[in-house]
Amino acid sequence: MTHAATLLPNFAAGRWQAGTSAGTTLLDPVLGTPLVRVDNTGLDLAEAFAFAREKGGAALRALGYGERAALLAEVVKVLQANRDAYYDIATRNSGTVTKDSAVDIDGSIFTLGYYAKQGEALGNAKFLLDGERIRMGKDPLFQTQHVLQPTRGVALFINAFNFPSWGLWEKAAPALRSGVPVIIKPATATAWLTQRMVEDVVKAGVLPVGALSVICGSSAGLMDQLQPFDVVSFTGSADTAALIRRHPAVAQGSVRCNIEADSLNSALLDPAASADGEAFKLLVSEVVREMTVKSGQKCTAIRRIFVPGALFDAAAQAIGAKLAKTTVGNPRNEGVRMGSLVSREQHANVLAGIAQLTTEAEVLFDGNSAALVDADPAVAACVAPVLLGRRDAVSARVLHDVEVFGPVATLMAYDSEAQAYELIRRGQGSLVASVYSEDPAFIARAAAELADSHGRVHAISPDVAASQSGHGNVMPMSLHGGPGRAGGGEELGGLRALGFYHRRSAVQASTAALDFLSAPRGLSTPRAAFGVTP
Ligand code: NAP
Repeated sequence: MTHAATLLPNFAAGRWQAGTSAGTTLLDPVLGTPLVRVDNTGLDLAEAFAFAREKGGAALRALGYGERAALLAEVVKVLQANRDAYYDIATRNSGTVTKDSAVDIDGSIFTLGYYAKQGEALGNAKFLLDGERIRMGKDPLFQTQHVLQPTRGVALFINAFNFPSWGLWEKAAPALRSGVPVIIKPATATAWLTQRMVEDVVKAGVLPVGALSVICGSSAGLMDQLQPFDVVSFTGSADTAALIRRHPAVAQGSVRCNIEADSLNSALLDPAASADGEAFKLLVSEVVREMTVKSGQKCTAIRRIFVPGALFDAAAQAIGAKLAKTTVGNPRNEGVRMGSLVSREQHANVLAGIAQLTTEAEVLFDGNSAALVDADPAVAACVAPVLLGRRDAVSARVLHDVEVFGPVATLMAYDSEAQAYELIRRGQGSLVASVYSEDPAFIARAAAELADSHGRVHAISPDVAASQSGHGNVMPMSLHGGPGRAGGGEELGGLRALGFYHRRSAVQASTAALDFLSAPRGLSTPRAAFGVTP
C-alpha cells in the first residue's frame, strides 16, 4: 500500500487528539479497500473522563430539562444537514443499501427528535420529585419526599458494530436530556460514522464543551476510568458483557451498568392460523424482512420462527419463495436489495454459525448458490439469506442457544400453545417476540405469557398490518432490552430512559423544608414520570 488511510482524531478533554500509533484501518466490506484509521494510543484517559465529568457535567446540569431538550433539537438540525455524508459513510463502511442505512441514520435522528419533544411537563426544572410525600409516623410534619437528581458523573457508552449512528444517539439523547455528559467508544469496525457525527456536532458548537466526547479504537483502560457516580451502557456480545460486569468499577464500585447483549428473538404464528389466512401472510413477510434488513445484523432480528406443525411445509415454502427474490451484493448497484455484513470477520462468523446450526437443522432455503451482484465473493463480506428448519424443536439445543448475527433464521414446529411458549422461553430471555394472529384473545394470552421473558411483545393482526412499526424496529416510545441472556438491560421506553441517568434519594424533613424543596422560588418542581433502573 502506498499511502495510509486518514487517521480519525478523537475528541476528548475538549480538544481533537490523534492517536500516536498506526492504529486500525477500517475497510470497505464489499470492496476490501482501506477507508480510514482509528487509534487512541497516548490519550490521557483520566484527563478525558475528568473533563467530561467536571466541565461537561457542570454545564449540562446548569441547564434545565427544557433547555437540554432544545440542545437535542439543535443536534437534530446538525445531523439533518449532513445526512448525505452519513449515507456515503454507511455505504462504504457498513456495506448497507440505502434503506438499511436509513434504519441506522434516520432512526437515530427520529429518536433524538423524539427526546427533544417529550416531557414538556418537566419544564425547566433541575431535578424531579418522585411520587408524593409519605408520612413517617405519628407526627404529620415529618415526612419523606423521594427526589430524582441527574447523576454527577459521566456516561460511558461502549457500542456494537451494527448501529454506529442509532447506537450512539438512542443512548445519548436520554443522557444529555438528563444532564449527563457522554463519552462514546464505537465498535472499531464501523467507528467512522460515529466519529463523523460527533465531529459535526462538536464543530457546530451546539453542545457545551465536554458534553460529548468520542474515543475510537481500543477499549483498553476505558472501564478503569469509571468512578462511583458514572454509568456505563454496553451493547455487544455476551462474552464482552461478562467482562464489563466483572470489572472492579462495576463489581466493587457499584458503577451503574446497562447491558444489551445477544438475543434469540422469536416469531409465533397462532395455532388456529391457516396457510391462506392473513396472519400467515403477515408472519411470512415479517420474517423475510427481518432476515434481510441490514443483512440480519440486528439484535432484534427474528432468529426462531414457531408455527403449528401442520403449517411447517407451507411456511418453509412461502418464506423461501420470498427470500429467493433477495438480490445480494454491492450496495452501490441499484439492482441489489441486500448489501454485505460489516466485515470479513463477521462473514466467517456467520458461516461458522450456520455450520453450527445445521448440526441440528436442515437447510430449507439457501440463497448462496446465486452469484453476488457486482461483488467478488473472495473479497466481499456478503452472505445471502439462509432459512433453516427442524420439526422437532423440543429436542433441539443449539437452535435455542446460538445467535448467528446475519441473514439466518430457523423454522420450528410446535404441538400446542403451551409448548410454543415453553420453546420460546428456551431463548432464556430475549429482546422481542412477535405474534401473528387474527384473534385478539390469543394475542392477549400470548402477550401475557411472553412479557416476563421479553423486553417487548410485538403483536400483529390484520387491522394493524399497515401501521405496525416492525418486529425489529426499536421505537423510542417502547422499551428496548430484555431479561436474562438479552443482558437484563432497559433502554428507551419514552421518558423511562431518563431513569438510568438519575439517582433516587429519600429526603426526610419537615413539611416546611419539603415545601421549599418542592417549590424553590415558588416554582413547583415536576413529578417524575419515569422509574429508575438499577
Ligand atoms: P463485541 O465484540 O462484544 O463488541 C462490542 C463493543 O465492546 C465494541 O465497541 C468493542 O470494541 C468493545 N469491547 C471489546 N472488548 C472489550 C473489553 N474487553 N472491554 C470493553 N469493551 C470491549 O460485540 P460486537 O461483535 O460488536 O456486536 C455483536 C453483538 O452485539 C451481537 O451478539 C448482538 O446481538 C449484540 N447486539 C445487541 C444489541 C442490543 O441492543 N441488545 C444491539 C446490537 C448488537 P472493538 O470493536 O474495538 O473490539
